[in-house]
Amino acid sequence: MERLSVFAGLALLLTSLFVPGAQAAPKLKVVATIPDLKSLTEAVGGDLVEVDSLTRGTQNFHEAEVRPSMMLKLRRADAVVENGLGLDAWADVAIEASNNANIIRGGRGRIEISRNVEVLEVPTTRVDRSMGDVHPQGNPHFSLDPGLAPVITQNIVDGLARVAPENRVAFAANRKAFLARLEQEMAKWMKTMEPVRGAKVVVFHPVYIYFLTRFGLVQAATLEDRPGIPPSPQHLVNVIRDMKEEKIKAILVEPWNDVKLANRVAEEAGAKAYVMASAVGAVKGADNYIAAIDYNITTLAKALR
Ligand SMILES: [Zn+2]
Repeated sequence: MERLSVFAGLALLLTSLFVPGAQAAPKLKVVATIPDLKSLTEAVGGDLVEVDSLTRGTQNFHEAEVRPSMMLKLRRADAVVENGLGLDAWADVAIEASNNANIIRGGRGRIEISRNVEVLEVPTTRVDRSMGDVHPQGNPHFSLDPGLAPVITQNIVDGLARVAPENRVAFAANRKAFLARLEQEMAKWMKTMEPVRGAKVVVFHPVYIYFLTRFGLVQAATLEDRPGIPPSPQHLVNVIRDMKEEKIKAILVEPWNDVKLANRVAEEAGAKAYVMASAVGAVKGADNYIAAIDYNITTLAKALR
């Protein structure tokens, strides 16, 4: 009996392999530089794509190390989805080394999602990179602002359609369905945040400015002296004083920050530090785009109440 069903299964498999048209087209192999973009590319690509990320959400994207495993993923890629604004500049090195003409800068499989994004915190004076400032082109951490998802996913649709024009309609339909779902979530998120609108928070590294602005919160200070430049004792003294004066309740931290330091500062200021979903996969339960945003909304609404 068991053997019979195995044979039957095998026969079915062989039939499906040899009936013309029965075989699914191979999926597009897409590599995203960060997990947020993996999640959004999956939403747009559906089952037409297979997406891999070069980094994990618990990492500092500014300082990702180029590894042979990255080159291996890139060598086989039909497309690469990158953040831009300098956040994933290291991907250039890995892509050069991968020797894959599809995805070199200017190649049809190179998809940059910062196109048409209104960049915040653009420096008004020349930033001296030698001093270690990591946001010379403005703030690159916009991927988890749900209000920018329409722009970002449009860039992904356009990019994937360059590689597979026959699937443009399907990509556009997937995007529409995803944005409809996101819009429903957005209505809930706005309602949840309503009571804490206008509240001030302190952040370790300025990762949340797009998100905070979207939901009517204010970034009062950063623990870092400047983006990428570690906190100095004098700066922290000032931050603690301001936090006390303004009764700021929360310090928002990324998993890779010095959480102990943030806790100490928070304690002195009479506040609390919260490790946030600074990216998809940064904390437990934030394993896709909507879940990560939901985590941050829930955490902030409780913290600032
Ligand atoms: Zn940064």
